[in-house]
Formats: sequence, structure tokens, C-alpha cells
Amino acid sequence: MSSSSSTSSRQACRRTVYGVPSRCWCGQTLDTWVSETKENPYRRFYRCKIALQNKAENHLFKWIDEALLEEIRIVDAKHQDLLCDLKAVTEKTKKEVDSQRDLIVCRGEEMHNEFKEKMVQMTRSIEEATSKMKEEIDAKLNTDINAKLNSSGPMNKIAALVAICGAVYYMYWKHL
Ligand SMILES: [Zn+2]
Repeated sequence: MSSSSSTSSRQACRRTVYGVPSRCWCGQTLDTWVSETKENPYRRFYRCKIALQNKAENHLFKWIDEALLEEIRIVDAKHQDLLCDLKAVTEKTKKEVDSQRDLIVCRGEEMHNEFKEKMVQMTRSIEEATSKMKEEIDAKLNTDINAKLNSSGPMNKIAALVAICGAVYYMYWKHL
């Protein structure tokens, strides 16, 4: 019972050879033959030599046109698989490129903000330094002027006052 079922399942398995067979189940290479039956005249098939010599034995039989059609389907399926793989790889690559681009944009914005912040700090420092320098120069000038005014005698002060008044009068007169 079990042996007959295993035999029948083995035969069922043997009958479902898909595509172009390379060898017969017996190990022999396959040749191509032409059918001479009324049902399939001139139809070509695969068969080993032993099968033709001993027709009672169970050897591989396959119509060539069917085998070729199956082979085309196999190639087509492989082609579809490749297309699927390619699509998956393309989508994966696109996602990676997108994420890298987002990272670069993000880093660029960070750098831009850092640069802006540094520029603001630098401008502030320059303004502070300029203002400090101006104060120092003003202080120095005041000290110098005071020192000169203090060092000059009252006659010099009067002479300077007269000269200033003269200059102002000259300017006034010139504009009239
Ligand atoms: Zn065979």
C-alpha cells in the first residue's frame, strides 16, 4: 500500500518536469525525435534511447513545443523577479538619497545660522571696540586741550579768543 503510493507519487513527480529537460530519469542524455502517430504527426519530443528500445519501461517523455513554452514562462518569471528586485533597489536608493539630502540641507541651515550668529557677534565686537577707541581718543584730546589751555598764559588765551572772533567775523562778512 505504502510502496504503491510512493511509486505513484514518484511517477507524478516525474511527470511534472517543467521546462527543457537535460537528462532522462535513468541518467541517459535525451535525444529529439519526431512523432509518427495520427494524434501528433511530426510533433517533436524528448526521449532517451533506452526508452525507445524498451517501451515497457517508464522514462521521461516531453513534447519539445511544451518544454520551450514552459522555458519561456520560466525566463519570464525570472525577468519579473529581476524587475521586482530592481524596483526595490531603486526605491531603497531613492530613500537613502532623500535622507542624505535632508541631512545636508539641515546641516547647511545649521552652518548658515552659525555663520549669521558669528557675524552678529563680530559686528558687535567691532562696534564696541570702535566706541571704546572713540572714547579713549576723545578723552586724550580733552586732556591735551586742557593741558594746552592750562599751560598757556592769560595773554595767549585772549589772543586765541581774538583770533577766533576775527575768524567768525570774517566768515560772517564773507557770506554777506
Ligand atoms: Zn531513460
